[in-house]
Order: sequence, then structure tokens, then C-alpha cells
Amino acid sequence: MSKITSIEGRLLYNSRGSKTIEIDIISDNKFLGRVCAPSGASVGKYEAVSFPNGNPEESLRILKEYSQKFIGLEASDLKSIHDTLRSLDDSSNYSNIGGALAFSVTIASMESASRALNQPLYQTLSSRSSFTCPFPLGNILGGGAHAGPGTPDIQEILICAIGSKTIREAVETNLSVHKELRNVLEKEDPNFTNGRGDEGGWAPKLNNEKALEVSAIAIENLGFTLGKEVSLGVDFASSTQWDEKKQKYLYERAGFENSPDKQIEFAAKIIEKYKLVYAEDAVHEEAFEDMAELTKKFPKTMVTGDDLTVTNKNILKKAIESKSCNASILKVNQAGSLYDALEFAEVANKNNIKLITSHRSGESVDSHIAHIGLATQSKMLKVGIVGGERVAKLNELLRLSEHGLICGMAEI
Ligand code: PEP
Ligand code: MG
Repeated sequence: MSKITSIEGRLLYNSRGSKTIEIDIISDNKFLGRVCAPSGASVGKYEAVSFPNGNPEESLRILKEYSQKFIGLEASDLKSIHDTLRSLDDSSNYSNIGGALAFSVTIASMESASRALNQPLYQTLSSRSSFTCPFPLGNILGGGAHAGPGTPDIQEILICAIGSKTIREAVETNLSVHKELRNVLEKEDPNFTNGRGDEGGWAPKLNNEKALEVSAIAIENLGFTLGKEVSLGVDFASSTQWDEKKQKYLYERAGFENSPDKQIEFAAKIIEKYKLVYAEDAVHEEAFEDMAELTKKFPKTMVTGDDLTVTNKNILKKAIESKSCNASILKVNQAGSLYDALEFAEVANKNNIKLITSHRSGESVDSHIAHIGLATQSKMLKVGIVGGERVAKLNELLRLSEHGLICGMAEI
């Protein structure tokens, strides 16, 4: 057991070059926990805000003013750390102190505790004695809010090496498909610049259908059978297209509009044609009934809520009641504190909702989410494929796979 002896913050920059905060927590004067907060570009309406009035300096000022409240707390007592943050901010979305502060303080404290206990973070976060490794889910092609004009409206085309027996095989397979897709894109368009989106997926000037086609070709060129060794996934991020006034999805880059019924058809066709193992936010964040239709129609696909469920246990309970999804993204900074996110994970696991622990499009080089994915029994870890801030998480999973506590890959 170790007590917090110091807590300090600093201003840093994330992978998009935007300002963010990093928090250092030291317990017993020697055990350092250090966490730098990520942030999203396609954010859900009901997720925690990153900073009060968008100002990271304000979060740091608040921490400095109230730092004494944390000194002397048990670093491993996540509930006390969370309650102390809540004594400073009881808003539903951490608008007073910023979700980034709640994120960084709670994870840094647990990291400090894990150092004091001389055990890996995932073990400090879970009382389990064995763990299975989540499959890496990686972005091979980006569009939507993560890439510029001319790219697909769909935000992410993803791959998951579902036939892999080890984490190394899964990582290497994802890397090889990402590389092969570049070859396919260069053949398709000799002027392709090798440009990439925020998460490292290629960002070609292609429409949605063509982007899916070339992704499937890259998989098949390597001798894999789509849906067998390697499967495709899509994050539609449909709230980006949803126009509340028109009550339509506007696919502005491709030049068409979908009514809510047409959107279900549109998503269903893609799920069927490309045998998707994973379909995220196929309809907008408040379309619980439309998501339920897709969940019913595709029991073998992970029909996943991200903006729909925003790592909020109450919203997840609503989604469970209406059978709106069979899987859900876990992004700690959507919830705010790690305590909130672990409560969310408990509800998901009790109700057979498959978890996917996820990065944000604006990331740090931290790798705590590899541990959080293990501790929450996540089936997948959505962390990208290339780019230092993405590879850092995959490399940490590879390091952790050397531990005797991890026995094989998760079942998806
Ligand atoms: C996502 O939508 O799943 C995602 C990772 O993007 P962002 O961080 O921009 O929300
Ligand atoms: Mg998403």
C-alpha cells in the first residue's frame, strides 16, 4: 500500500499537435504514475468534455489549487480518487474540471500503485488470475472526420486477424495488410501520395464502396480469405453524417443522402457483402431502435456502440434494454474517470456485451489502454496499426504477452 505524496500536471501536445495535459502522481515519494490524456475528433454528444471551456490550462490550474486534497490518499484506492475528483465536479460530463483531468489522475494513481505493488497495471486493475489477449483492431483506411476532402465519408475501415493464434501473429498480419493496401492504392491511383488519416490508415481519394473494395483486395492478395483469417470492420461514425434538421444522413463526399431506413439498408449491405466481423455506429448516436434492427439481423457481427453508448453505464443499460448492440467501445476519456469506465465494463460484461477498448484519434504515446483492455476482458483493442502513438500500444501488448498470466487470444 502506498500513499500519494505528490501530484503535478504539465501542458503537452497530442498526436494531432493539439494541447493536452499530462499528470504525474508519486506515491511514497518514489512510485511514479504518469499519464497524458488523448482526445477525439468525432465526439459523442453525451461524452465527457476534455477540458473546461476547451482550455487545458484551466484543468491544470484547478489541479494546482486542489492538489492537497489528493495528498495522503491511498494510490490504489480508485474510489477515493474518483470521489475526490467528484467533490470538485459533480456535473454529468466533467465540464468543470475536464474529463482529461479525471482520466489522467485516476490512471496515474493506479499506475503509481502498481509500481508500489511491483506488478503490471492490468493486474492492479483486476483481481482475476488469468487473462486473455484482446485482438488488435486496426485502421487501414481513414475518411470522415479523420481525413480530408475526397476521402470516404465512412470514418474507418478496420481489420482484425481473427484467425491468429498469438498476439504477434495478429499484429504482423495487420501490418502486412496495411502495407499491401498501399500497393493496391498505388496501382489504383498513380498519384496517390501515401497520405494517412489521424489514426494512420491510408487516406486515398476514393468513395466508400471503392475504399471497401480495395481493402478486401489487399486482404485477398496476401492469400487470406475474407472473414476467415482476416476480417474487415467499419466504423461508420454515422453521427458525423446525421443532419438533425433534415432527419437524413448526408454523404456529402459521395453525393447522396440516406433516410434512416435507407441508412439501415446501406449498412446492412456493407456488413453482408464484406462479411464484417465488426460494425461500429452504423446509425447515429440516438437511433437506438435502428441499431436494434441491425443487432437482430447480424448476430455474428459485433454490432458496436461508440457514440451510441459513450462509455456511460446508464446509456449502456438503455442500449441493453432495447437490444441496440451486442458490443461496445470502452474509451476511458468518454466516461471521464477510470472508475466510471470500470463500472461501465462491469455492466457490459454482466450482460454479454463484448467490449472493445479503444484509443482516440488524437493520442499520446502512452500504452495504458493495453492494460485496461486486458483488465476489462475486452475482446478487441482498437489502437490503429502504424504511427508511433499507435504502435506503442501494440508493442505493450507484445511485452505483456510474455507474462505467464496471459493465456491465448480472446474468443470473439
Ligand atoms: C472513433 O470514433 O472510434 C475514434 C477513435 O475516433 P475519435 O477519437 O475521433 O472519436
Ligand atoms: Mg467510433
